[in-house]
Amino acid sequence: MNVPFLDLTRYTSHCGGEMELAISRVNEIGNYILGNEVKSFEREFSAYCGAKHCIGVASGLDAITLTLRALGVKPGDEILVPSNTYIATWLAVSNLGAVPIPVEPRDDTYNIDPEKIEKEISEKTRGIIIVDLYGQPADASSVLEIAEKYDIFVIDDAAQSHGAMHRGQKVGSHLLASAFSFYPTKNLGALGDGGAVVTSDCEIEEKVRLLRNYGTKDKYVSLDKGINSRLDEIQAAVLRVKLKNLDAWNTKREELAKKYSKAFDGTNVKLPYVPTHLKSSWHLYVIGTELRDNLRIYLQKEGVDTIVHYPIPPHKQPAYAKDMAHLSFPVAEKIAEEVVSLPLYPYLTEEEHSYVIDKVLDFLSYSRRH
Ligand SMILES: *Cc1c(COP(=O)(O)O)cnc(C)c1O
Repeated sequence: MNVPFLDLTRYTSHCGGEMELAISRVNEIGNYILGNEVKSFEREFSAYCGAKHCIGVASGLDAITLTLRALGVKPGDEILVPSNTYIATWLAVSNLGAVPIPVEPRDDTYNIDPEKIEKEISEKTRGIIIVDLYGQPADASSVLEIAEKYDIFVIDDAAQSHGAMHRGQKVGSHLLASAFSFYPTKNLGALGDGGAVVTSDCEIEEKVRLLRNYGTKDKYVSLDKGINSRLDEIQAAVLRVKLKNLDAWNTKREELAKKYSKAFDGTNVKLPYVPTHLKSSWHLYVIGTELRDNLRIYLQKEGVDTIVHYPIPPHKQPAYAKDMAHLSFPVAEKIAEEVVSLPLYPYLTEEEHSYVIDKVLDFLSYSRRH
């Protein structure tokens, strides 16, 4: 049997017809940029998150960058970021000339360790970007407590956590601002690139709205040195269709994740740990084992695709190695060596799911005996 890591055409089988109708609606009107679809999606997604505003932008990276710009981040400012995130979190900071200051994660939740934040705060620190890695909200309340003491901001890289909850609040409404990505593989994915900033803060809203469209509110009057980073009408129309399915899709992900965890309980692999006050969006199902590379080879041979999120931590990326080569982040480095993501998405079939479980268990019992 072959189990692809993710097959996006299965979403097409489920709601492709509805997506095509949505695309035709845009084509019939012939307005492709900042029209009613974007407006409606922004209204629907902010309501979904329980926040006042949503501003559609071109990507998750831009959503983070524009949020930082709206908060007045300048060259030389220091922004705390997790040492084990996807590179975009760091790039958003670096691209503004600001400096990402890595903070190690907890090794059980994979999210930023609030206890390691305080010692990284300096005179230059302006804020913290937490990341809800693999779909599980970071410990925002503990981070906020520290941030308030030092009068710095906390924003959320929510590229993986659409629909997740932190202490009963949806991601998007629990912090000053959250940056979402609609990259096709995310829990809420477009048919191309897309992103959004979700916030209840009027100033951030106004600023991001200006910046994403050349700094203009009225046509041909630039109030700020903005960029072109707009969510387009076709993507917004498709996202509106997909948003209606998001909760059901996340529920299905959770079901599959729980079944994985139940099946692997009692083995010596490290399972995802979700504190009870959090609800993960289960963007990824990630296990940890020192035998990771052999497990992957075995699964590949048996037809099961896996991916490592992420094999090289940001400070070891060539893009950062020059500035960071002298630093080490052992927790992030160990995570990069031990984690592997198993196939998990709403249209993974029962058969495929059981097959993956069997193959992982086969490997584990074989490696115990040898
Ligand atoms: C996907 C992702 C991003 C970037 O999103 P793009 O839409 O690809 O720019 C940022 N942060 C995290 C954690 C991500 O997973």
